[in-house]
Amino acid sequence: MELDKLAYDFLMTEKCYKLIQKAVMEGRLSVTVDFDDIDRYDPFLSGQLLESPDMVLKSFNKAISEIEKDANIKARIRGLPESRQIRIRNLRSEHVGKFSCIDCVIKSASEVKPQIRQGIFECPECASTITVDQDSNLLQKPSFCTSCGRRGDFPMKDKKMMDTRWLGAIEPFELTTGEQPGEIPVFMTDDLTIPRMQKKTDPGNRIKITGIMKEIPKWIKGKLSTKLDIYIEANHAEPSDTELDEIEISQQDEEQIIEFSKDKNIFKKLVASIAPGIYGHDEIKESLVLQMFGGVPHVLPDGSRIRDNIHVLITGDPGVGKSQLLKLIMSIVPRGKYVSGKGASGSGLTATVVKNEVLGGWVLEAGAMVLANKSIISIDEFDKMTKDDQIAMHEAMSIGTVSIAKASIVATLPAQTSVLAGANPKRGRFDPYIPVPEQLDIPETLLSRFDLKFALRDIPSRSQDELLAHHIIKSRSSPEDITPVISPALLRKYISYSRRIDKMVLTPEAAERLKNFYVDMRNRYANEEVPTIAITLRQYEALIRLAEASAKIRLDDKVMMEDAEKAIYLMKYSLSQLGMDPETGKIDIDRIESGVTASQRSKIRIAIEIIETLEKELGKEVPIEDVKAEAENRGLGNIDEILEKLKNEGMIYEPRSGFIRKL
Ligand code: ADP
Ligand code: MG
Repeated sequence: MELDKLAYDFLMTEKCYKLIQKAVMEGRLSVTVDFDDIDRYDPFLSGQLLESPDMVLKSFNKAISEIEKDANIKARIRGLPESRQIRIRNLRSEHVGKFSCIDCVIKSASEVKPQIRQGIFECPECASTITVDQDSNLLQKPSFCTSCGRRGDFPMKDKKMMDTRWLGAIEPFELTTGEQPGEIPVFMTDDLTIPRMQKKTDPGNRIKITGIMKEIPKWIKGKLSTKLDIYIEANHAEPSDTELDEIEISQQDEEQIIEFSKDKNIFKKLVASIAPGIYGHDEIKESLVLQMFGGVPHVLPDGSRIRDNIHVLITGDPGVGKSQLLKLIMSIVPRGKYVSGKGASGSGLTATVVKNEVLGGWVLEAGAMVLANKSIISIDEFDKMTKDDQIAMHEAMSIGTVSIAKASIVATLPAQTSVLAGANPKRGRFDPYIPVPEQLDIPETLLSRFDLKFALRDIPSRSQDELLAHHIIKSRSSPEDITPVISPALLRKYISYSRRIDKMVLTPEAAERLKNFYVDMRNRYANEEVPTIAITLRQYEALIRLAEASAKIRLDDKVMMEDAEKAIYLMKYSLSQLGMDPETGKIDIDRIESGVTASQRSKIRIAIEIIETLEKELGKEVPIEDVKAEAENRGLGNIDEILEKLKNEGMIYEPRSGFIRKL
């Protein structure tokens, strides 16, 4: 046969012959051939390979077994031409049976299981053996004996097995901004499932797969259906870690980035360039710039790793622009992804083990944290995540892995993902008279893993409201006014370029400054009867990360005094946002509500309770008279002043004269 001969001759060329010999010596099960080499050798052969890969690969494998009699070595093909690199969502019936290449992230994976590759049957009549290659899900038996021609049933005498694994592959995030990523099952066999490869094809990894698109026969009531499900039978798989570092940066980009890094005002410019449509929130934007750049990873002598990811939490009243900010930031950062804490995809935020019929048996499925490994993820409604996710999130946010042991699957997946979380207060709005942490449905242990936390209050203020309204009108009527100074494309390159700095030293002054801040804050009130501790080692590590990120913006590998100051400023701001006084280390509600005495505070609480109770009885709008009467009953006295305060705080408003309503 012409193909067999062509394949044999090609594999006998010097380069291929050497490859085969090497594989034999190393005891490997496959040789990898470059498509370009085949194409150069004979365009007909390469063309056939693309059109009828099953047939040509068979010829290749047959030729190898002729060249090396005893070896069981398969040919694997790498580097298909551009025209065969196809997005998963664009795979169509025209691709069935053809050779294609997909770039994908592994979302789910089954266990590795043995499967029959070849059934060896015996003829009960003449005792000769009949070998049948198994290439479908159902065991195929011989229909007649090749020696004596007997028809009927043949018992299986022996079988040859192979290892198999099913993967669920999805399109990488950056290809699918805002759309549901395409998904396809992938079938891996033989040495693609050996432990070394298995690790590389665990969920969360990004790989390039060359394979043949095939149909899965579907049975409906015992009859074959005409509707098909498709999968890819992998022939070759290799990691394609397009990390930040691999964004293409031209000479011109590089010059511009270096120029930026020397600009004294670069930090301000960066802050002005992210989410310019969102008015104000400067400290948050400053934090987000540092988060995008990130710290540098540190590996301690004992092998433990200190994370470089900076996590930021934004909580706040509804409608203050949290979700909008989260989405905008994700459109800037490389490989950013916006998800909801409820786990829109069903596989949650971390990982789950589920039964999957297509992939067969128990399947490990990666959640968003794993799929966004080595990049940033926005998790809105962070407080609404499932209990399982909440538990796994502790590990993911502090050491960058997700471990799971469920059913028969035990795995540790990578999740070095920076988290930008958004959350609403438990009761819809913040109550300024209760400490912020108590109003969040997030356990303290998880809260402490955020380097910086913000609580946005929506308090009416004539001058601020006017500025905000003006900003919004301006951004609608003349969008050019809010065009970022540094375009998102260049910012992405800038961030990616800064990742080249992977070692960082603290200058003695900066180290001293950070250390003093930490020690001071911890010990300021250590002698009190009930010592209060404002910060822990977690925040100290956070300070270092933030300072490192600040130095990376300058493309500097030394943390200077100015970086330490920036980190300390943001840390203090963040602590005060949660009602913690950075000077005293105490939860200080007075600071937020400015000059309300303790007795007044309890009166305010009672007044709110009264309104809430009446609301249940009378509906949303409560007559002021009733509130006052009830206050009188409870011995609060005149509460005009308190109601006024609540109005100013935006806790209640007067929908119509004589009535109040809680916001
Ligand atoms: P949240 O998630 O905090 O409840 P959203 O992000 O959904 O709020 O914001 C509601 C709307 O108000 C959005 O359209 C947003 O653009 C707008 N908005 C809120 N705050 C600002 C702001 N500071 N500047 C510009 N637009 C804002
Ligand atoms: Mg929201």
